[in-house]
Formats: sequence, structure tokens, C-alpha cells
Amino acid sequence: MAPLMQAWVVNQPGPIDSGPLRRVEKAIPQPGSGQVRVRISVCGVCRTDLHLAEGDLTPKHPRVVPGHEVVGYVDRVGLECVRLREGDRVGIPWLAHTCGICRFCTSGRENLCIAPLFTGWDLDGGYAEFAVVNEAYAYRLPTEFSDQEAAPLLCAGIIGYRALLRSNLPAGGRLGIYGFGGSAHITAQIAQSQGARVHVVTRSADAQALARGLGVASVGGADAVPPEPLDAAILFAPVGTLVPPALAALDRGGTLAVAGIYLSDIPSLNYEKHLFEERTLQSVTANTRLDGEEFLALAAQIPVRVTTTPYPMDQADEALRALAHDRVDGAAVLINAEP
Ligand SMILES: [Zn+2]
Ligand SMILES: [Zn+2]
Repeated sequence: MAPLMQAWVVNQPGPIDSGPLRRVEKAIPQPGSGQVRVRISVCGVCRTDLHLAEGDLTPKHPRVVPGHEVVGYVDRVGLECVRLREGDRVGIPWLAHTCGICRFCTSGRENLCIAPLFTGWDLDGGYAEFAVVNEAYAYRLPTEFSDQEAAPLLCAGIIGYRALLRSNLPAGGRLGIYGFGGSAHITAQIAQSQGARVHVVTRSADAQALARGLGVASVGGADAVPPEPLDAAILFAPVGTLVPPALAALDRGGTLAVAGIYLSDIPSLNYEKHLFEERTLQSVTANTRLDGEEFLALAAQIPVRVTTTPYPMDQADEALRALAHDRVDGAAVLINAEP
């Protein structure tokens, strides 16, 4: 019989308090051609994992292992690998595969590939002891960051960076951030390092304190209106009712980027108040590998300070509950015991 590992699977998607995840024993995966196997040290907990567990995102296959902010060490190398060797520290991100030949892949927009695969949705992810990854999609991680600090960079960080790019924030501009968790607290630091004035709107008192600690220009509660018009805004909270006030807070020509993969319904918009004067509502879809490489280099250079709340791997369900109920400071991460 194949050796087994402990892993969490999405057993029965539903409200997080109904226990949609189950801890099971699974065969340790074997790397295929062009793949490496990673012994997982830490896996970050992303809001997308919560959407998957709760059924907001339809599972691509039953009993998938969630988790796409995976930090670990290569312990087996498949045939035809050229980049990675046994012992390398690597990160496994959300983007697991693209076709390489569609009109998006061939024009620098592989994030819009028509046949992509995603870690922890199509392919088993990091809520486990081992995972395999196509080596071409794994990242080498800057030595500035511990395993625990590096994990949230892999989705929260990279997607936040792409959202910042898509928000078209001008140099030295005024940026609004709606919702302040794992992704936002990293993105705010990137923006500030580029001279932005950052205004944070978030309901949780802990998140407000985290924002203040980063020296942002202003912090307000859920219904707050930033004290000056915004050149750009990023919506991190998966809450569609925040779209109209965030658009209304933009200056002429401003852009609101929606960072999440899931958003509850957006109420009807008023053209004059929310969109006229060339305001733009912009979605963000995954990322390219280039976005990831750029972001990791930038994060190391600043260097970004990553705030994490650690949980043992066997408490992944509790970590997701804490995220659902706004009880996580910065980014939650799941830690495997030392082998
Ligand atoms: Zn493609
Ligand atoms: Zn994610």
C-alpha cells in the first residue's frame, strides 16, 4: 500500500460552522514529469479557501484538498525537471497551470487563460503534509522571509499586488482600501513604499489597529468616508454593498479594483454618482507568473512586514472559522509539525 499522509478535504460544502472540511488519510502524491513534490512546512489560509468550503465557489472535483499559499521543501523531483532540486525551498501559489497557447497566454495575459488549473481548487493544495507542483509554476522565496511570513505572500500578497496594478494608482496618489486582512495589510505597505497616502475602511477593531500600526493616513469603520477624494481604491472585503460607496469616494477618473474571486451581489449603481466622470470599476482575475516574481522581489526589497496568526495544521477548520468571524490578525497560517 502507498504511504499515507494527513490532509484536509472539502467534504460537504456548506456554512463553515457546519464543518464542511474533514481530516482524512490520503496517499502521499508522486510527482509526474515536470513536477516536484514538496514537504509542506506552512500553508496560508486565504479567503478563497473559505469560499470553497462554504460552496460560494463550486468545487472542481469532490474532496479536493484546499490551500494555495504553500511553503515547503522539495523532497522528490520528477522526470524532466530543470529548475528545482531536492532541498530547495519553494512556494506553491494559486496559479498551477496555463495552456501556453491560447490568445491570452500568448499575449502576456496568462491570468486569463481559457484552460487554467488552480491549486487547492482543481488540484490538491496545501492543507496536507505533501503536495506536488509543476516546477514552472513554483516560486523561489526570498530569504528575508521565514516560512510563516512567506506563505501569505503567495496569494494574499501577489493578488493584492495585481489589484494595486489594476487600480492604476498614480505615483504619490491617494488610495482607499476597503477591508483590511491578510492581503490588504501587505498591499498597503507596497503602496506606501511608492509614496501613496493610504486610507483604510474596515469594520473590525483589530484590523483598524493593524492599519494604524502601519502608519496609514486614515482609518475608519465600515461606513466611513475617506477624508479626501481617492485616485484609486481596492475592495478586499467580499461585500458587494461596498461597491457604490467606494465608487462614490473616487475622484474623477479614479478606479475601483475588486481584488477577490467572489463578491456578493452589487446593488444598483447610479450612473452620475458612481460611474460618470470616467470612474472605472475593475475586476482582478488571478495573476501572471511575472506579477508573482515582481511582487516577491519588491516585498523583499521593502521589506514588507507580514503579520500572521498561526494555527497547527490539525486546526485548519478552526482557522477558517476564525477568518469567517473576523478573528484573524493579518493572515492565518497553518503550521505542520517538524518531521
Ligand atoms: Zn492559455
Ligand atoms: Zn488566495
